[in-house]
Amino acid sequence: MRDEIKEVLISEEEIQEKVKELGKAITEEYDGRFPLVVGVLKGAMPFMGDLTKRIDTHLEMDFMDVSSYGAGMVSSGEVKILKDLDTSVEGRDVLILEDIIDSGLTLSYLIKLFHYRKAKSVKVVTLLDKPDGRKVDLVPDMAGFTVPDAFVVGYGLDYAERYRNLPYIGVLKPEIYES
Ligand code: 5GP
Repeated sequence: MRDEIKEVLISEEEIQEKVKELGKAITEEYDGRFPLVVGVLKGAMPFMGDLTKRIDTHLEMDFMDVSSYGAGMVSSGEVKILKDLDTSVEGRDVLILEDIIDSGLTLSYLIKLFHYRKAKSVKVVTLLDKPDGRKVDLVPDMAGFTVPDAFVVGYGLDYAERYRNLPYIGVLKPEIYES
């Protein structure tokens, strides 16, 4: 699979180091509270698995599956709920975990939804931030790495459902998109 990667942007070691740092910061912020950690499927799954092990306070986990991209590489701008939370967010400190923020459309939709559902607080932690792709005004509360405006895969991020299981973040060779 590595043959299909043009360039590794962020190594496994760099990701794991950053996850530790983020876990420490989240522990300090939520210590003594009981946040509801919401993973946005499917991309946030590896990040959520690693990060929650580094958060040293009680927390509850839930998942939301939303889609704004279809199977391709361009955001449709329309957010659809494919799977809703099992838990009520009313009165809860909600911490949304994302793999990447690009246009910001997915997250701004979720933030509005959780406020509408009367969450006590809503914060966002993303592994990757792609600020050049932004279509709405959205700044994450914590971000692991800033990436250029290129399509990246790995560590949860897919191209046509592949590459999510790579332990690093990379850019695919152009011929992979063309084939
Ligand atoms: P947004 O709504 O911020 O435009 O997009 C968020 C979602 O789009 C992410 O959760 C992710 O699924 C997808 N996405 C955005 N940029 C990339 C990228 O560079 N690579 C991949 N694989 N998915 C991306």
